[in-house]
Amino acid sequence: MSRFTIPRDIFIGNGAIDELSKLTQYKKAIIVTGGHSMRKGGFLQKAEDACKKAGMETKLFEGVMPDPTIECVLDGAKAMQEFEPDLIVAIGGGSPLDAAKAMWVFYEHPELTFQDIIDPFSIPRLRTKADFVAIPSTSGTASEVTAFSVITDEKTKVKYPLADYEITPDIAILDMDIPLTMPVSLTADTGMDALTHAIEAYVASNHSYISDALAIHAIQIIYESLFASVQGNAEARARIHIAQCMAGMAFSNALLGICHSLAHKTGAQFDIPHGRCNAILLPYVIEFNAVSERERYANIGRSLGLPGQTDRQQVNSLVEAVEKLNRQLGIKQSYKENGVSEADYMKVADFIAKEAVADPCTASNPRETSVEDMRKILDCAFFGKDVEF
Ligand code: FE
Repeated sequence: MSRFTIPRDIFIGNGAIDELSKLTQYKKAIIVTGGHSMRKGGFLQKAEDACKKAGMETKLFEGVMPDPTIECVLDGAKAMQEFEPDLIVAIGGGSPLDAAKAMWVFYEHPELTFQDIIDPFSIPRLRTKADFVAIPSTSGTASEVTAFSVITDEKTKVKYPLADYEITPDIAILDMDIPLTMPVSLTADTGMDALTHAIEAYVASNHSYISDALAIHAIQIIYESLFASVQGNAEARARIHIAQCMAGMAFSNALLGICHSLAHKTGAQFDIPHGRCNAILLPYVIEFNAVSERERYANIGRSLGLPGQTDRQQVNSLVEAVEKLNRQLGIKQSYKENGVSEADYMKVADFIAKEAVADPCTASNPRETSVEDMRKILDCAFFGKDVEF
């Protein structure tokens, strides 16, 4: 048995945020957002105005910080319990969207503790109090269509990836005007995160015909359009915004692999953005996984029209294509070149390798990965060197 879960509606287009004004079945909306970017860009006001136009009373919950904490989630849930919305509108980057999903759980089920929901698929039924709309401002995490939310324990600094199709949003709104405001490095990093989502979903052990179709098309669009998007081309940016969402639908159901396992742990240790960690790791992970999944990686290469007759040649071309894209985007191909010192790396390398094996994403990787394997891949990514796996 397999399952494929995505939002009921996805609205796509310039000014799509106005779709909120048609949701006349709801009475009260709480709008959850991050720092100031949505307010500065005028999008918070647009969301509020559209909800009011639909006849809703509104309340704002602003200030969700990057890497949202359990404390922030419980604060938001309390605000929801007081206001009693029947619609939750999350607008912003991955952090406010993730935080709002977790707030939703504790609004619907105030009796639960955070410990009760950290196991995958342990969240009880939602939607007895509110439905959920997600409006992403960045083009990478695809939280607007996924069953995931990453929440940090502020005391231990441990990140908990909550996973349950209950928290897949009901409505996603891809308003193409919003990602136009992303700065260059954020566009590059989040775009490489999305490319990694699509590639990992395509080879993941849980992949299906449905996730394959979304993943392979997302890979094509991102590969063709990311450089132009980073250069500020508005059409390319709009294509990337849709493609990252397709990648999200794919990986929410097919799951991910060890590129994300290593990105999660290195990102936390070295304070390097999540997408850039994936960009650094991806070529080495492809080489490692291709030992057992050569044909599927070769399919990706062929779908991109890369050179090579044999599967082996296609895999080589794919690795080179990812490295070339990184160079075009100005992303350096090793942790060392990204400012991590060798002394700092050596102190934590074994710890990271061990932690990465225990990461939930490792379970759906196409090739079994030992701590030694992880360490070998990590060494490649630190020094920027190729080895035979
Ligand atoms: Fe990611």
